[in-house]
Parts: sequence; C-alpha cells; structure tokens
Amino acid sequence: PNDVGSQWNAAELVEAAREHLISPAEEMAKLGTVTRPMLTTGDGVYVTNAQGRRLLDGPAGMWCTQIGYNRREIADAISAQALRLSYNSPWYSVNGPSAELAARIASLTPGDLDHVFFTTGGSSAVDSALRFVQFYNNVLGRPDKKTILCRIDGYHGSTHLTAACSGRAGNRPNFDLALDTVSFLSAPNVYRRPKGMTEADFLEFLIGEFEDRVAAIGPDRIGAFLAEPLLASGGILIPPEGYHRRILDICRRHDILYISDEVVTGFGRCGHWFASEAVFGITPDIITFAKGVTSGYVPLGGFALSDAVLARVSGENAKGSFYTNGYTYSGHPVSCAAALANIEVIERDGILAHVRDIAPYFQEQIRSLKQLPLVGDTRGTGLVACVECVTDPAAPEATDFDKEVSRRIDHHCYELGLIVRPIGNMCVLSPPLVITKAEIDSLIAILRRSIVLTQDELRAEGRWS
Ligand code: PLP
Repeated sequence: PNDVGSQWNAAELVEAAREHLISPAEEMAKLGTVTRPMLTTGDGVYVTNAQGRRLLDGPAGMWCTQIGYNRREIADAISAQALRLSYNSPWYSVNGPSAELAARIASLTPGDLDHVFFTTGGSSAVDSALRFVQFYNNVLGRPDKKTILCRIDGYHGSTHLTAACSGRAGNRPNFDLALDTVSFLSAPNVYRRPKGMTEADFLEFLIGEFEDRVAAIGPDRIGAFLAEPLLASGGILIPPEGYHRRILDICRRHDILYISDEVVTGFGRCGHWFASEAVFGITPDIITFAKGVTSGYVPLGGFALSDAVLARVSGENAKGSFYTNGYTYSGHPVSCAAALANIEVIERDGILAHVRDIAPYFQEQIRSLKQLPLVGDTRGTGLVACVECVTDPAAPEATDFDKEVSRRIDHHCYELGLIVRPIGNMCVLSPPLVITKAEIDSLIAILRRSIVLTQDELRAEGRWS
C-alpha cells in the first residue's frame, strides 16, 4: 500500500468514496457529488489530508484520540494480540485481555462499580446499559419501571433505543424513535437559561422540573436517568454546580438508576479517568465508556456497573435469568489489548496530570476569544471547550445565520491548518490530551484569525456589523 493505505491513488479513492460510500449524517441531496476530506496519515496531534496539508486535530477525531495518532506501543499491542489470539467467542469463552481490562477499569471507576460489560462502541455501551435497566426491573418484578429520563440536547448514540434518548432535534427527522420509553427534561444550558433568571435560580428550576417529572410519571414507572456529565455534542453544556448531586439524591430516594454516560468524558478528557466523581462529585450506578478507552485505535465500549445493583439480580436473586444481551465482538481480544496498552501509556506518560496542568491555560485562551464581537459565549472544562457564535445577542436561540457563520469559521480554520468540529453555531474543541502549550497557542491563533476573517467578510458583505 501507498501513503493512503491502499493500492489505489488518492484520486481513485476519492472517486470510490463518492461512488460507493455512505457516511454518518450523509446529506442525501449531495450523495455522489461531494466527498469529505480524505485523511491519509496521522502523527501526535496532527493529521494529513490527501492533498498533503497538515492539520491540527481540534476535536481529537471524534473526542477520542487521547494519546495522539500512530503510537508504536498501541500498534505493537494490536499486532501482538492479533498474532496470539485474534478472536474468541464471548458467548462461551473469555480471553486474557478482556479479563485484565475489566479488572483495570474496575480499579479506575468510583465506588463499587466493579463489574464491566464490553461492547463495540459508545452507542452499544449505552444501549446495553439501558437494556440492563429493563432486564433488572423485569427480574425484580417491576415490569412498569421502565421510563428513561434524559435531556434535550443530550446525545447517547445511534441505535434504536439510544437515538430515542438523544434530544438533539437535528438527528430526528425521518426516523422512527422509541419515544414511548423516554421522557425529556430541559438541557442544563446556563448560557441560554430563561432571561432574568440567575444561575442559582436556574439550578432550582432544573431540580424542580426533575422532581415534578418524577411525581407526574410516578417513581414506580421510571427505570433510569441517563445523563452525560457535560453535554458534549449538545455544545459543551456544563450544568450548574450541584446539579448532578441533587439529581442523584432524588434518584436514590426513588430507586431510579443513575447512568452516567462518560463516552466523551471518560479516559482523561477532564483530567481524570472518569469525571462523574472526580469532577462532578457523584458515584452513579452505571458508567458507560468508549472512545478514549482505546484512544480511537480500534472500536471498543462498555459499561461499569455497581456491585450493589448487580447483587439484586444475580446469585440467589437471579431467579433463573440470563442477561442475554451481547455481541460477537464483546470483549474483543485485540480491542482489549489496545485498551490495556492505551491505559499503560496514559499512566506511564502522566497524561492525566498533564491535562490537569495544561487545562487552565487552554481554558484561559478559549475565554480570551470572548472579546471578539462574533463570540457570544465560551465555556469548557479540562480539555474540552466551545466557542458559540452569535450574530444577534437578543435572539433566544441560535439562528440559521449563526450556523452559517460557524461553518465559515470552520472552513477558514481548515484552510489555515486546524480541524474544528462545527456543531450548529458552535466551534467545539477537544484536542488530543497530549497537546502541548505551543500547540494550544497555534490552535487558538488559527481559530482567532478565522473568526476575525469571518467578521471582516460579513461586514464587507453588509450582512453584519
Ligand atoms: N454517548 C455519548 C456521550 C457520545 O458523545 C457518543 C458519540 O459521540 C455516543 C454515546 C455514541 O458513541 P458511538 O458513536 O461510539 O456509538
């Protein structure tokens, strides 16, 4: 294979993608007419596209390339395991790497979350956790305790059930969603909170809404609360201080399981293995993870489950049940070997401490962009942040023009050597955790320049002042 990883050259591959590939969130009207940028190689926090342009990877792929691209340690671990035992069926055998990884993850999770179920990615991790909630309440003889509480603007995946729990309006048209099992609460969006409400009042509003909803549906009909510690794809929404703790208290009072979806925040994004306890002060019943567990080298996900919860439906409480949820690739030996090597690199290189050290600088630099007139809000924690572009500060929500502006900024960034993930009117950044101060400077300089260029263009076009 050549540099592109194929016998074909870049032009042939672009043509093949155009003719035969369907990508996630494909814009169907343009199918076959355009292709996304083809990335060919990676190195540290950089990737290179088929035209040879080197790009700083602002979103870390899709919030996942924690230790950076092309690490020899991970490649070697993958290769060694593929040559040792490339596959085993988890339905009637176990492999060494999955057993070791389960034990390692159990030692990294808070509280008594000491059992781990492996899946193939984030959607299957959340889906499996939700199916566990159904299984759990059925075994406990509470077949009505099934409603899942979740939030507008949350994102939990692309299976039938996880898509139903995802509250992002843009993902919904033309799909049939299992909405009868779900009840949506407000997004804890501090920036867009109702006008005139203080942040403290907003917290009371959110807690009151949660309590009212539990009362309205009835606690005997609610199985779980499913929440990202911070809403990632929803635009880095960090709830008011105390939100998670107070909701967990309500859940405990009503025997509602609390599922913390750490698919984005897990494995170092906020400077800790998991953010639930270390950053937000809660020990949930279930933590879902994926992405950073392998730094994106190979697919893997899973959930960690509290022993106290598990005890209620296992051993003498099992009532003859089988948790018949699983995948051909649950606990895949090559994926688990990659995850073990990834955890080793994070530990050996002190990457969590590095994130904690460098995050204040990253956040300060992001905040400095707020002085630009197009920037309505900046927010973040750890190595995840967002710049929200607002052309009309009086508008209650993002306008189509705001979204167009954000796409323009993204385009300029790309031309200048930075990948930014535009989500609606937001430029979201979550770089690989190994990013250095100099690389942060370069990321911020490109982003600032792109926003300024966009402002100048809009003024020249007479569309904004
Ligand atoms: N949960 C959260 C919080 C996510 O952000 C995502 C994906 O971005 C998922 C679940 C779904 O993960 P995957 O795309 O690996 O299926």
